[in-house]
Amino acid sequence: MDDIPPHSGIRERLGLRPIINVSGTMTALGASIAVPDAIAATTAILPEFVEIDDLHRIASRTVARLTGAEAGFVTASCSAGMTLAVAACMTGADLARIEQLPNPAGMRARVPIMPGHMVSYDAPVEQAIRLAGATVVPFGQATSVKPYQLEAVLDDQTACAFHVVSHHCVGCGQLPLGEFAAICRSRNVPAVVDAASEYDLRGLIAAGADLVCYSAHKFLGGPTAGIVAGRKDLVRATFLQNMGIGRGMKGGKESILGTIAALEAWERRDHAAARRIERATLDLWRERPAGDRARP
Ligand SMILES: *Cc1c(COP(=O)(O)O)cnc(C)c1O
Repeated sequence: MDDIPPHSGIRERLGLRPIINVSGTMTALGASIAVPDAIAATTAILPEFVEIDDLHRIASRTVARLTGAEAGFVTASCSAGMTLAVAACMTGADLARIEQLPNPAGMRARVPIMPGHMVSYDAPVEQAIRLAGATVVPFGQATSVKPYQLEAVLDDQTACAFHVVSHHCVGCGQLPLGEFAAICRSRNVPAVVDAASEYDLRGLIAAGADLVCYSAHKFLGGPTAGIVAGRKDLVRATFLQNMGIGRGMKGGKESILGTIAALEAWERRDHAAARRIERATLDLWRERPAGDRARP
């Protein structure tokens, strides 16, 4: 609880209503309360010039250390990361292709996804894919997908296959990421994962994903930003999209450094203690109304 900065009165000055957030990290509620390290890093870098590619190099190393991936990249949001990751699988490091997007002529542009993963995070997952110029190719059924259906949909026009890890997804009948990624690998197709709000920074790379997209402003308590972790060649191609469609989705110095700080704070945090505090809060909320009912 020491992590929570003192209340500044900013909401009152702006005439905004107080919020008791019992729903989690919601964009509509300002995502998360940033951790002090992220606030300090953001404040420290804002008044400085900086060679932004050097900052990107540090971010890549930090993301790699925390996720177990080869490299990492920070962009505007997880949604931006999803679009740029798909774009990277379409263009590789070819700058002419990067400038050509969102016109996919001459590129692999099919992106298979399970219908049970075509969810909304207040915007459609499919749209983040289409924004790169790709064509979404649903395969299998909403409540049932078999390995042969993924094998059949992967062809020589496939840019990557897309997998979503979220409580929004259909809960039964989906191909688990490990199996999904193994089939993709056997066909030499990158598996791209949206794991925006998953607390698991290492498990998805370990399960075989080639690129994983996270939000910095959800469980990490960072500034508004997105993280793409994965294979070095694909992360580089994702970064290079900043010379194309990624320009309008770029993370500034404060987002990049704030994300690095949030990741480092996550690395140092006593996660068991944080869980105990959350548990105690939930228990309190459950017990208090019960106690009130018991009163005459
Ligand atoms: C929140 C969320 C996103 C979008 O994340 P942003 O960083 O806000 O763009 C994408 N996918 C899922 C499953 C989410 O929960």
